[in-house]
Amino acid sequence: MKQKINLRLFLIALIAVVASTVAITFVYYELFSRQVRQDLKIHAELLGDAGIFETSSIDSDEFSKLSRLKNNNLRITWLDWDGNVLFDNDTEAAELENHKDRPEVAEAIANGEGESVRKSATFKLATFYYAKKLNNNTVLRVAMQVRTVSSLFITAAPVIFLIIIAVLAACMVISRMLTKTILEPIEEMAENLDDHSRTTVIYSELKPFADKIRAQHEHILASAESRQDFTANVTHELKTPLTAISGYAELIENHMIDPDQETHIAQQIRHNADRLLSMINDIIRLSELDHKELPRNFANVDLSEIAEECCDNLKVAAEQANITLSFKGTDSFISADQTLIREMIENLVQNGIRYNHEDGHVWVEVNNENGHPTLVVRDDGIGIPKEKQARVFERFYRVDKGRSRDMGGTGLGLAIVKHIAEIHNADIKLNSILGEGTNIKVVF
Ligand code: ADP
Repeated sequence: MKQKINLRLFLIALIAVVASTVAITFVYYELFSRQVRQDLKIHAELLGDAGIFETSSIDSDEFSKLSRLKNNNLRITWLDWDGNVLFDNDTEAAELENHKDRPEVAEAIANGEGESVRKSATFKLATFYYAKKLNNNTVLRVAMQVRTVSSLFITAAPVIFLIIIAVLAACMVISRMLTKTILEPIEEMAENLDDHSRTTVIYSELKPFADKIRAQHEHILASAESRQDFTANVTHELKTPLTAISGYAELIENHMIDPDQETHIAQQIRHNADRLLSMINDIIRLSELDHKELPRNFANVDLSEIAEECCDNLKVAAEQANITLSFKGTDSFISADQTLIREMIENLVQNGIRYNHEDGHVWVEVNNENGHPTLVVRDDGIGIPKEKQARVFERFYRVDKGRSRDMGGTGLGLAIVKHIAEIHNADIKLNSILGEGTNIKVVF
């Protein structure tokens, strides 16, 4: 950025110097050539009034005076009415051809006076001519040679070049200072992004930018922290069943098991292995859901049909726990990934069965609330204490760790549910009264 600003300032200065040099030269040259024309006119008037050209010839005294004027860069030519040269202070008159066709002479014969400018073959010099008809019908022409604009430029080029270098050097210093003052507040802001006490932003235009970066920064920190928590939790959660399995295996290895305990030990090993498996499955599931860019099979599906299927699948599990599972629903179509929705409903219903009493109930309902397809999973189970309700959607959070473990819970079910709801832009509402039951509503 610094380099860019420096370069731009450089370019601006360069263009400014070159453009102003060119413009000034042209203006100056225009004024100069006007002055030359005026001078020529005055010379012609003076010479005409001097009476030198009244006679038919010029005496030697006057001739030498006029010749001297040549040294002042003034060429004088005297012509008769037909354009024949009578006198020229530069060349012998007899050597000069007829001048009738020269534009300034032709103009003077026709209108009394005329002027023109002719450039030399090399374009280095320009000759300004002024011709005037005298009273005796002869024509007096004066001329002056000056340098052309291009030759002036070429002569002035080294000076212009030096000026450009000087200006660029000055620009370099100024642009350094300027970029420093412009960028300093931005650099300071970048350095103090996470320092809330230094929230002043010097450029108001940068405030939304700074706010956004700050918010993103905080978000990144927060997610890094939660990832760290998650990793620590995973390690801890996986360790417990593995330690148990390893312990039981050690007992068997050392023949420390009574034959009548064998079945129990085998059950414990299987139970812990199952826990490990379901935990690993849930972790993999969560990490899959975390990948937002993963393709999803979105289609128009009937929420009621999926919910009914889930209830059918879980009926046996409910009966084993002495729970009555019932379903009620009306057709409600949503755009969703069927596999994910099924997973969400199964998780909710399993929780309803798990955290319930004997002879409890789980009700699953699908209906349309104010045009929104809605799923309700309700139970009359143990309920969740008010102060813990906000946390149950966190990964690995369990109200009653022992009970959750005994029932085969991983502490990840509701986190998965929440994730799936987010993917479908659905809202989750949890209502629960301790000892009376829980009602979870998902509004699509
Ligand atoms: P888990 O695998 O332990 O069931 P979840 O994420 O599904 O994990 O739930 C988190 C915790 O929320 C559970 O451990 C339990 O304490 C509580 N919970 C979830 N659903 C219910 C419910 N229907 N009734 C009572 N408590 C529930």
